[in-house]
Amino acid sequence: MHAFEFVRPADAAAAVATAAQAKTAQQGADVRFVAGGTTLLDLMKLNVETPARVIDINRLPLNQIEATPDGGLKIGATVRNADLAHHPTVQRDYAVLSQALLAGASAQLRNMATTAGNLLQRTRCVYFRDTAMPCNKREPGTGCPAITGTNRTHAVLGTSEHCIATNPSDMCVAMAALEATIHVQGPKDARAVPIGDFHLLPGSTPHRETVLEPGDLITHVTLPPPVVGSRQVYLKLRDRASYEFALASAAVVLTVAGGKVTRARVALGGVGTKPWRSPEAEAALVGQPANQANFRKAAEAALRGAKPQSENAFKIELAKRCLTHALQMATA
Ligand SMILES: Cc1cc2nc3c(=O)[nH]c(=O)nc-3n(C[C@H](O)[C@H](O)[C@H](O)COP(=O)(O)OP(=O)(O)OC[C@H]3O[C@@H](n4cnc5c(N)ncnc54)[C@H](O)[C@@H]3O)c2cc1C
Ligand code: SF4
Repeated sequence: MHAFEFVRPADAAAAVATAAQAKTAQQGADVRFVAGGTTLLDLMKLNVETPARVIDINRLPLNQIEATPDGGLKIGATVRNADLAHHPTVQRDYAVLSQALLAGASAQLRNMATTAGNLLQRTRCVYFRDTAMPCNKREPGTGCPAITGTNRTHAVLGTSEHCIATNPSDMCVAMAALEATIHVQGPKDARAVPIGDFHLLPGSTPHRETVLEPGDLITHVTLPPPVVGSRQVYLKLRDRASYEFALASAAVVLTVAGGKVTRARVALGGVGTKPWRSPEAEAALVGQPANQANFRKAAEAALRGAKPQSENAFKIELAKRCLTHALQMATA
């Protein structure tokens, strides 16, 4: 690993001021925050990330889970994935989030991984992680070998001719279905970003993955008040039963009355270049009887824009079955 300076700021303002000296908040940033380190240190060992300064934010008071005045939930940036998954309020009111977190990584990793770090975890694309290979995300303008190479685990939704990498997070898929908001403290002001606007599609700039700018510190995430009577499921399909990223996953938050769907929030994982909320599936569900045929129609709608690569066409049918089954589980 290359040499770097390790900084422990006294407070959030000092952390933001130091990080604001970076030229970019994105790939290649020379100053970076570290929380659990399970993404950043991993990539530093591979020389994929080479920051000159690493700012440890673990001592900042950002590790609380609290009720908000409107009845929602405030989750601090450094709350560990394990603590969030096992929090009684999350288990009771936001079960899809608890399920998604527990489906991710391993118990050891979940004890380290944080809320903000999970939001910003990088793709598992093998070319991105290998500095001997070109990669538009790691080195803009060098090309995307995945398009003609190994792409079985890559995305089928939201891809571009410049990058087809999958966003690997489970937590973000549940947060998309729960309509979470990301709260950011920047050098000048604080702002709140709906999760649907937080991650960017690759387009012609796959090295830009989020709307964060230099100095931006995620302070917390808020969830709206729970939807009374909603049924929630996170279903993850993968090559082995644990400690593996999703080939396809689905997060559903569904309300059913009189046998009909009255409200639906649907997001997909493992198939998109960002956590993939599906308004198409939601529109197909609302007002319809909650049955297998309509669940399948919603899944068809969700994957209508999917574009397969040479090795991953199977993901389209897999994702449809995953969503159909998740909807069945939620209404069983
Ligand atoms: C072997 C392995 C298996 C895994 N399996 C899964 C899986 O199945 N599902 C899944 O979802 N995830 C999986 N993960 C990923 C894991 O969930 C992430 O690595 C973890 O959530 C990142 O959190 P962290 O706190 O360790 O982040 P860090 O490594 O500390 O940080 C990650 C990034 O976020 C930035 N950052 C951190 N905190 C802030 C902040 N407050 N404000 C602004 N920027 C910040 C850092 O600068 C860095 O760029 C796996 C990881 C490993 C190593
Ligand atoms: S898919 Fe994206 S991350 Fe993977 S090689 Fe292509 S540009 Fe790089």
